[in-house]
Amino acid sequence: MLPVIHHPDYDASSVSDEHRFPMRKYSLVADLVRAKGYTLEAPVHAAQAALERAHAADYVHGVLTSSLDRKAARRVGFDMTPAIAARTRASVGGTELAARRALETGAAVNLAGGSHHADYEGGAGFCVFNDVAVAALSLLEEGRVAKIAVIDLDVHHGDGTALIFADDSRVFTASLHCEDNWPRTKPPSDLDVGLARDTADTAYLRAAEDLVTQTLSTAEPDLVFYNAGVDPHAEDRLGLLALSDDGLLARDRLVAQGCARQNVPIVGVLGGGYSKDASAVAHRHTFLVDALQEIV
Ligand SMILES: [Zn+2]
Repeated sequence: MLPVIHHPDYDASSVSDEHRFPMRKYSLVADLVRAKGYTLEAPVHAAQAALERAHAADYVHGVLTSSLDRKAARRVGFDMTPAIAARTRASVGGTELAARRALETGAAVNLAGGSHHADYEGGAGFCVFNDVAVAALSLLEEGRVAKIAVIDLDVHHGDGTALIFADDSRVFTASLHCEDNWPRTKPPSDLDVGLARDTADTAYLRAAEDLVTQTLSTAEPDLVFYNAGVDPHAEDRLGLLALSDDGLLARDRLVAQGCARQNVPIVGVLGGGYSKDASAVAHRHTFLVDALQEIV
């Protein structure tokens, strides 16, 4: 079966459902996946040294000791508490573990992660540490892989990831996003496709297929990280696009099948998904598990 990674710390209960970044979805999606018969594997918290591969040491220290200055914390969007530090460390450890499992089995998923707005200097947009960047740099450092691609289909541009790997030819970054959406400034990825507001299933899936094909043929990666944010959904509070549930499932399938056809291991991370209906968001995140299960 598909390796599925989850840690109880993913749900930092100090952040309420009214917050624009509801934490409850992480417990809900874990429950839904358990109900499908999966045994979830827990990661260890990411090591400080691993975090410092992708982030400035003083920023890492500020987060881990809850001593981050208020301006930096405001940019992230959370009060920086020990629960948030534990959550983000578990989430990064989860993406690292999922990446190792994907190299063994061809695919794996972390039921968290996709914190793509965090860059070297600090966090932003609810992203504390960039889990994909940390995991990618750990595997490269260990010599487990030589080339990596990041396929980021969260509705928001993957600005933090683009910045971290701007001068690193080992990592190819690709982002498909809504051009009108935050962040206003979109530092270039290796491949960027910005969609118009209200783009729906057919046009979106065509763009996603093109982006996946181009990424795999240009980068020839040993491993793909896939940010499967469900915020392109029509009912998302922050998304501005118009995908249906069927569209999201078809998208996750085309990414999974594209990697499987080229024999490239794939690591799925959840990414964004914002709705008052946390159950609906959690359900949409299970499409990623279903799509990856089909290729292992
Ligand atoms: Zn997003």
